[in-house]
Amino acid sequence: MNVRTDVLVVGAGIVGLAHALAAVRLGLTVRVLDRDAQANGASVRNFGFITVTGQQAGDTWRRARRSRDVWAEVAPQAGIEVAHHGLVVAARRPEAESVLQAFVQTETGADCRLMTPAQARDRVPALRADGLRAALWSPHELRVESRDAVPRLAAWLQRAHGVEILRSVQVLSIDTPAVETTAGRFEADAVIVCPGDDFSSLYAQRLARYELTRCALQMMRVRPAAPLRLGAAVMSDFGLVRYLGYAQLAPAVDLRRAIERDEPEMLEHGIHLIAVQSPHDDSLVVGDSHHYATTPGPFARDDVDNLILRELDRVLELPGRSVVERWIGTYASSPSRPMLVDRPAERVRIVVVTSGTGASTAFGIAEEVLAELA
Ligand SMILES: Cc1cc2nc3c(=O)[nH]c(=O)nc-3n(C[C@H](O)[C@H](O)[C@H](O)COP(=O)(O)OP(=O)(O)OC[C@H]3O[C@@H](n4cnc5c(N)ncnc54)[C@H](O)[C@@H]3O)c2cc1C
Repeated sequence: MNVRTDVLVVGAGIVGLAHALAAVRLGLTVRVLDRDAQANGASVRNFGFITVTGQQAGDTWRRARRSRDVWAEVAPQAGIEVAHHGLVVAARRPEAESVLQAFVQTETGADCRLMTPAQARDRVPALRADGLRAALWSPHELRVESRDAVPRLAAWLQRAHGVEILRSVQVLSIDTPAVETTAGRFEADAVIVCPGDDFSSLYAQRLARYELTRCALQMMRVRPAAPLRLGAAVMSDFGLVRYLGYAQLAPAVDLRRAIERDEPEMLEHGIHLIAVQSPHDDSLVVGDSHHYATTPGPFARDDVDNLILRELDRVLELPGRSVVERWIGTYASSPSRPMLVDRPAERVRIVVVTSGTGASTAFGIAEEVLAELA
């Protein structure tokens, strides 16, 4: 084993792996170190929902489009199945329909279109007809089963690109070219630190300046009683006041007011509905809630899960469905920025996605970071 590589990446979540890919594509040698024995962070706890539509206009949307293209290119090579393409946002309130009408007029809504309830049910037959006013169709999204996709991406980087990934190795300090770890000293010309929501192990003082916190999300796997093909990712009214691409439109003010009036508990727990399907069986990954804390508690609340399921059952017809898994995931969160790239030293970068968009934007971010470093 060569002690020295061109690039050393700390963290084998999607952000670290995206940087490894961007580096090997520039012809650089890459080593990735992760303290966990297998992927265990936000990258395997998420929806695997590569979202373009609804991302904030500007950099995030541009990075999401680029990342979606990289996912589409890499997935077949790495043996990652794409479960479904596209997104249906089901609007039940008149205010939600107004948000969708405004959205399709925007630059980021250009390839999307409004659908009647019947058209929406052609796309997603499980959508409930009662109460459905209109829907948005976006062709951009794709969905992977993260808990398989991230390990497969890592294995492919090793196999096809010679990336060396060492697990159960904690990085203790960095003074390029030296990188001190629990497995001894490595060397690299450049180091990219992708620590997810760990703000204290490396460069704690620098990260403290960004006033980061953590967001905890409750998630479930729901198994339908009968065979089901969802056909696309599904969201509902509540997503339109969370995803900035919709929430920053003028009609979203009225929608938020209506939700505040009718269902304030959904806003209190930051609940919106995302339902996506597994490529392996009929199960759906369903979420989520948003609770912010420096150290989120480990305890999932039943009442919060029940609110998520209430919305699921309003939007989709899934008679006899059962919850077969529940988990909590956390991601780094900033009130003011969707991501950060910090430069603690000439050849070191810290890259943290500080919003729930890392699966959707990491490949785009990584190409920018490597271009600047190179
Ligand atoms: C429940 C949930 C749902 C989400 N849904 C979506 C979604 O649908 N679409 C989307 O785009 N995004 C989604 N996100 C956000 C997305 O998952 C994150 O933005 C992304 O996974 C962050 O990736 P990461 O590589 O930075 O972090 P992680 O996956 O947490 O990886 C960080 C890694 O760094 C390692 N590490 C940290 N410090 C060290 C050290 N000193 N030495 C060695 N290793 C270290 C850790 O062990 C860890 O493996 C969701 C997040 C959650 C929690």
